[in-house]
Amino acid sequence: MIYTGGTIGMIENVKTGALEPFNFEHLLMNVPKLKMLDFTVDNFAFSHPVDSSEMTPQHWCDIAKVIEDNYNDYDGFVVLHGTDTMAYTASALSYMLENLAKPVIITGSQLPIGEVRTDGEENLITALHIAATKDKDGKPMVREVAILFDDYLWRGNRSTKHSSDNFNAFQSNNYPPLARIGLSITFNKDALLRPDDSKPLNVQYNMDCSVSYLNLFPGINETIVRHLLSAPGLKGVVLRTFGAGNGPNYPWFIQAMKEAVNRGIVIANVTQCGNGSVMPNLYANGQELAKSGIVAANDITSEAAVTKLMYLFGKGLNYKQVADAMQKSICGEITVEE
Ligand code: ASP
Repeated sequence: MIYTGGTIGMIENVKTGALEPFNFEHLLMNVPKLKMLDFTVDNFAFSHPVDSSEMTPQHWCDIAKVIEDNYNDYDGFVVLHGTDTMAYTASALSYMLENLAKPVIITGSQLPIGEVRTDGEENLITALHIAATKDKDGKPMVREVAILFDDYLWRGNRSTKHSSDNFNAFQSNNYPPLARIGLSITFNKDALLRPDDSKPLNVQYNMDCSVSYLNLFPGINETIVRHLLSAPGLKGVVLRTFGAGNGPNYPWFIQAMKEAVNRGIVIANVTQCGNGSVMPNLYANGQELAKSGIVAANDITSEAAVTKLMYLFGKGLNYKQVADAMQKSICGEITVEE
């Protein structure tokens, strides 16, 4: 179990009334049921637990390093993490942990573990159970990065935090749950990733942050768009478009896209809709945008798209390699027609 911070381990600062990260001993003390498990759990706690809004790629590397150093000694890993950027961490780790063949289950809670109505204890215990579950051949049931929250286990790089309030805080709008949590834990075997487990784990630590989002809205301003696209060092942009991948056909906008692409910036078209895919040929506007050289990233989430760009550029790939890879699946983050 790897503790990074988040609400699950927070306590209220009596002076400010705000929740702040607290130490791991406090969390353990509040989950006496940990002693009732029929498997062994060892712990690793970050020396400075953080609110996940402070997460950086360095934290992702720290988590990945703990997993790499302990990979052969454990059946699985549970990462305790704040919910705010959990989908980003899950997506990033899914790429960084190349050839992963063991469960990495990320969880947290909406209410701190010390609260009477906390959802933290249930999430934590269920995550540990899933991390310890084997299939009939004795192999790990889950062989990928997943998010366990309340009633569901989701593929990490398909997940989005959709509620700041509900206990069911996460959703995966374009991919079914990997498991449903009820009286028993029912795995959706057809949905689980089955990677080639003959290759050894390889961690890619280099994540290149020369990327950005560009969120479209009616009235978007040319100066601001051009300013963002000409930011020094920019390599990749997740363009958050309307509906099935549409954007305005204003000449300045199409021209700005073309110029950025010609300068070698990878622009990935991702829909602002919570559900569904980019379909560049459905509307004339989408077609025009596609002709400007931006690439359709199908039904990927924004979180998985921006971290994928970081990972691909971190590998040192060139424009063409990154643009091609954005339209293919690395570890189940995107639906690609066969
Ligand atoms: N702000 C918190 C965090 O992301 C929220 C949570 O954990 O639910 O660390």
